[in-house]
Amino acid sequence: MTESTSQQTVSHWINNKPYPGTGTGTAPVTNPATGEVTARVALADLKDARAVIDAAAAAFPAWRDTSLAKRTQILFRFRELLNERKGELAAIITAEHGKVLDDALGEVTRGQEVVEFACGIPHLLKGGFTENASTKVDVFSIRQPLGPVAIISPFNFPAMVPMWFFPVAIAAGNTVVLKPSEKDPSASLWLARLWAEAGLPDGVFNVLQGDKLAVDELLENPAIKAVSFVGSTPIARYVYERGTAYGKRVQALGGAKNHAIVLPDADLDLAADAMVNAGFGSAGERCMAISALVAVGDVADELVGKIAERARTIRIGDGTAGCDMGPLVTRAHRDKVASYVDAGEAAGAEVVVDGRTVQADGGDQGFWLGPTLLDHVSTDMSVYTDEIFGPVLSVVRVESYDEALDLVNANPYGNGTAIFTNDGGAARRFQNEVEVGMVGINVPIPVPMAYYSFGGWKNSLFGDTHAHGTEGVNFFTRGKAVTSRWLDPSHGGLNLGFPQNN
Ligand code: NAD
Repeated sequence: MTESTSQQTVSHWINNKPYPGTGTGTAPVTNPATGEVTARVALADLKDARAVIDAAAAAFPAWRDTSLAKRTQILFRFRELLNERKGELAAIITAEHGKVLDDALGEVTRGQEVVEFACGIPHLLKGGFTENASTKVDVFSIRQPLGPVAIISPFNFPAMVPMWFFPVAIAAGNTVVLKPSEKDPSASLWLARLWAEAGLPDGVFNVLQGDKLAVDELLENPAIKAVSFVGSTPIARYVYERGTAYGKRVQALGGAKNHAIVLPDADLDLAADAMVNAGFGSAGERCMAISALVAVGDVADELVGKIAERARTIRIGDGTAGCDMGPLVTRAHRDKVASYVDAGEAAGAEVVVDGRTVQADGGDQGFWLGPTLLDHVSTDMSVYTDEIFGPVLSVVRVESYDEALDLVNANPYGNGTAIFTNDGGAARRFQNEVEVGMVGINVPIPVPMAYYSFGGWKNSLFGDTHAHGTEGVNFFTRGKAVTSRWLDPSHGGLNLGFPQNN
């Protein structure tokens, strides 16, 4: 199913077939557990980008006019195929991203939940109807698709993040151009093949491989009507500003620095398990990873001890070998994360667990960095201020709930957060007062279910619409209100005045 066997170039995808394009640029695709280059990915030139966009534009009128019943039948078929064969997709993710197989399977399952949500879209596309709003005048609303839409996704969830958007976009009658990350592009083609097998007509789901050039064309080309972006904050801001300047609807989800607050009355075993899972799962390369632990009052010593004990048991290695945690995505990223640990140590943080010297169960050339726990981190250290996107958990000690809340609310990001406590009143106050889009109460990674919407606040999201759920349906459709009157014998003839309701 994958196009990324060695010697091969991972291509674009148009009209239910691979499309080699005319661009000559490529980038390496690497297995992070071995350091081996396993394929090259095509980097679109302008002609390629336009060819993919044109395919999506050509397919739109027929797909828009395809009945809801037919559209949802194809979605159901896609869901069945995905469910049967998700192991294949998980293996592709592990081979290019590095996350362990179980985690890759979890990613696919979370994406599948959005497909299942989108299977029920007829209910969400129903409009309202008011009979006799004025005498013999009816008013009703309908929601219609936008046209070809672009999805630009990051490396860390090569299947789930595209699936936050494309099931809803396609179910609502739009056509799609997916521009995946260059680092792990093969999942996109596997998904494209699955759509073809599910019976999706040519041109409804297309893949454009590439870098900034491809993204800029998606932002500027007038055929593209909306852009869903997920990635780092500087690029999210750029995509939002440029896309909206070109008149498009844009939702651009950015980076994160997620804090967990542990109050003195919390169950410390539960909190320690949660911190290890949320800090080191997927090697910390999750936008919902916890990277700052705010220990309130006297919990810090005991909690740090419990986390350290657990972190030391984590087995690092090849994601296909039954390990707990895989490598980082590239050598450059691994070295950058390690340099943050160096800087934290130099600035006075205590390195309680040091991942820089980890012994991994994998190739010598793998991009390994073990779980790292830093204590006594202060808020001026780069390890605290920056999004690191690696397996590094920084402990900040504070005296009170108010001090902890102020830290979270002062942070420029607002993606996810969690509080650990047995005090319902404190938790309730937190859910009300915290300025973050997704909140966990004794839950470290509060990713909403597909029928709610996913999105952060502040620098974690540009635009006002979150992903999937009813917000996703609204994003991929536009409303129309129709006022209708059918003449009957009471027709009153000419009247140039503004109508009054009577
Ligand atoms: P990235 O910003 O480097 O890349 C994201 C996408 O933008 C890719 O498709 C890439 O090709 C493209 N891109 C990169 N540079 C560009 C440029 N100069 N101009 C135009 N396009 C460009 O992000 P990444 O490293 O792939 O992913 C990690 C980041 O994504 C982290 O910051 C993480 O927090 C964030 N993320 C956020 C969420 C969320 O829901 N908020 C989810 C997943 C990941």
